[in-house]
Amino acid sequence: MSLNDQWMQRDLAVLWHPCTQMKDHEHMPLIPIQRGEGVWLHDFDGNRYLDAVSSWWVNIFGHANPFINQRVKDQLDSLEHVILGGFSHQPVIELSEKLVAMTPAPLTRCFYADNGSSCIEVALKMSFHYWLNSGKPQKKRFVTLSNSYHGETLAALAVGDVSLYKETYQPLLMEVITVPSPDCYYRESVQSWEEHSRAMFVHMERTLAEHHEEVAAVIVEPLIQCAGGMRMYHPVYLKLLREACDRYDVHLIHDEIAVGFGRTGTLFACEQAGIAPDFLCLSKALTGGYLPMAVCMTNDRIYQAFYDDYESMRAFLHSHSYTGNPLACAAALATLELIEKNQVIEANRALAAHMAKATAHFAEHPQVAEVRQTGMVLAIEMVKDKATREPYPWQERRGIRVYQHGLKNQALLRPLGSVVYFMPPYVITPEQIDHLASVAWEGIQLATRD
Ligand SMILES: *Cc1c(COP(=O)(O)O)cnc(C)c1O
Repeated sequence: MSLNDQWMQRDLAVLWHPCTQMKDHEHMPLIPIQRGEGVWLHDFDGNRYLDAVSSWWVNIFGHANPFINQRVKDQLDSLEHVILGGFSHQPVIELSEKLVAMTPAPLTRCFYADNGSSCIEVALKMSFHYWLNSGKPQKKRFVTLSNSYHGETLAALAVGDVSLYKETYQPLLMEVITVPSPDCYYRESVQSWEEHSRAMFVHMERTLAEHHEEVAAVIVEPLIQCAGGMRMYHPVYLKLLREACDRYDVHLIHDEIAVGFGRTGTLFACEQAGIAPDFLCLSKALTGGYLPMAVCMTNDRIYQAFYDDYESMRAFLHSHSYTGNPLACAAALATLELIEKNQVIEANRALAAHMAKATAHFAEHPQVAEVRQTGMVLAIEMVKDKATREPYPWQERRGIRVYQHGLKNQALLRPLGSVVYFMPPYVITPEQIDHLASVAWEGIQLATRD
């Protein structure tokens, strides 16, 4: 038995993997990884895989990055963890100062959580609680966009709208108001992204006009609905939404968990709309893909609504055991330093242009409806019928064929349904992008053959 197989057997005897029908592994091998280096993942049998999905969108400076490694090691020798209630430490203070300095001006407070989903829970609870503290307990509903994704814990799932993950648990979820997404895949062929996104705002305007008195917040994924198939929209929607939220006295929550830290072409997606949300949720790339951590940032007005004598019972009594973990903070500080030192925004512009060039011909493929891109995310939508955009029946699992072809050809491409995408670490080279493009092309040929 190969080493890969031996590890796989041991794994399958005791593990239960995320987002997986475990029975699939009767015919699809599980890939045990021995080590990572830069964009490459190496298994136990000497194969390697180019991590085109940044290991679920978290890794931006490559695996086992020497600079981040050293910073985490240094931190490990002085303090691994300390309770953040009543205590503090250097890395969490420095990280918070940095985050406040690099995000839009109104965001002046950092509240930490352990992962993206719990960060969404923090934002939802804080928003509701703000209105409660402000004498408006009736503002307790949330408005969300169709096809959005905000995580898997129950409240995060409730404000999301990807039915594959949500439908089963519907009986457990709070009710939300769902508004049609500005998703530009559905624009008329003569429409620009901007025209479509602007036109779709009427639905949001109408909903807020009708419900604002009972609405605490609107939650959106700015510019890219990642888990919903890398669907994209124009920043004008965020600008209109900010104006409407101000007009109707409703909070705006930006979930930049997947798109923060340079992914969309700016450091934060909200910059492209020239706005600041009331709550900014960050995670994933925050620690460079090293350690689980998330931060919910907010403004002083919200912070002040909780600030009072203890007996007033207005405090935000929410916590997680590993809140502000020093090792994660050290990884995050190192990551932020690399973002500045490597001039990531400029460097990514060239890489993004190369991704566009390397995949330009995909649009002509008879089974490709659209090639779309925002910054360092490029997505290719496979369809059964190019003219009508009729999708492939989900049961056919076309994307998995691309995935399997990738694994045989040094590429970790993990499609979302029939959407093949590149969301690579920023340390990828133009040659490596070319490799991904050629493997994806062959994979799409194979996947759409019959
Ligand atoms: C991944 C993701 C989350 C959830 O984060 P987890 O750390 O997986 O809980 C929430 N929102 C968006 C937009 C995400 O991509």
